Amino acid sequence: MKTQPQTTLLGLDLEELTRIAEEAGEPAYRGRQLFEALYRGRVAFAEQISTMPKSFRGRMGELGFVIGALGTERRFLSRDGTVRYLLGLADGETVETVWMPEGDGGEEGDGSDGGERGWRRATICVSSQVGCAVNCQFCLTALLGVRRNLTAGEILGQVIAVLNDQKVSPPLERVNLVFMGMGEPLLNYENFVKAVRILVEGVGIPESRMTVSTAGIVPRIYDLGGEPIRPKLAISLTAANDELRSRLMPLNRKWDVGKLMLAAREFPLRSREKLTFEYVLLRGTNDSPEHARELAELVRGMRVKVNLIALNPGPGVEFETPDPSTVVRFQQILMASGIPAFVRRPRGRDIYAACGQLKRMVETAT
Ligand code: SAH
Repeated sequence: MKTQPQTTLLGLDLEELTRIAEEAGEPAYRGRQLFEALYRGRVAFAEQISTMPKSFRGRMGELGFVIGALGTERRFLSRDGTVRYLLGLADGETVETVWMPEGDGGEEGDGSDGGERGWRRATICVSSQVGCAVNCQFCLTALLGVRRNLTAGEILGQVIAVLNDQKVSPPLERVNLVFMGMGEPLLNYENFVKAVRILVEGVGIPESRMTVSTAGIVPRIYDLGGEPIRPKLAISLTAANDELRSRLMPLNRKWDVGKLMLAAREFPLRSREKLTFEYVLLRGTNDSPEHARELAELVRGMRVKVNLIALNPGPGVEFETPDPSTVVRFQQILMASGIPAFVRRPRGRDIYAACGQLKRMVETAT
């Protein structure tokens, strides 16, 4: 039997699926059927595609078509209901994805008050690269360096793997996506944007329920603003002046606060949309009242909100978490200046699932 080169289907858009169906001598509508089965139906095996004739399902293997679903290698469950997934990729690399069922009245997210599903609203935190090249001094993922970009199929495949594992069925109106896992999404721009498009059009998650966070890749922020389909934008600021930001986030030497803020101000917001700034609070470094006032000054007049994240500690990270009272004081200064400010609740710290902690920690099983 002659060996076929393999074609991974997950990550192909409708046009591409239609083309490969036609090349295989099938009618064009087979492409639409594949698209629906892969993304709406979230099938893992060709045999599950009940809309297609058995003959073609059987032939898919001979044609070298593989679906390319991500396998769950490990699952870590937090006390707060958060689940950190270690997902396997075709080349043996792994990537982390986090499931966060929202507090639901039974505030632990443990299903005590969430009806049948055990949650009313949930968020999936998606990775965009294996590792990261950006080197923020307070982030554990940075310690890995960047190993490679994820393909579009691997980005959206994380969402599919988690939805399937959590048995979430359409309509998906209570699922939010944040592209805030491992990696810098805007340094993997094409694959990221393609994944978003398929997640919207195929999987059925509205773009208004998606947020991408960037460390500040300025030219790509302009590009993102021009995309017809895009998530909301969050920018990891963490310092409001160049001296401090360059120390904490070395990429600031390339795209400084001035350039970043110009891109932020010019970002074309949709009606009722707000830009988010994330600010990781580091004890004794960027958490004083003066720092808060400096931040307030910087974003004055913009349609923004600020998400404050108290540092999630980890081995190899030199910084410490501020006291809760320091965090509240910082928040109050922003609020008093008319800037909506929220303190992000750490999720899954005990299983290294919280912001800045994703590092393929296979060893912290619970
Ligand atoms: N590369 C993108 C996506 C990662 S998002 C970005 O930098 O925005 C992860 C968020 O967690 C960012 O806002 C980042 O600043 C923040 N973060 C990184 N390390 C952290 C840590 N140790 N504790 C808390 N937040 C952290």
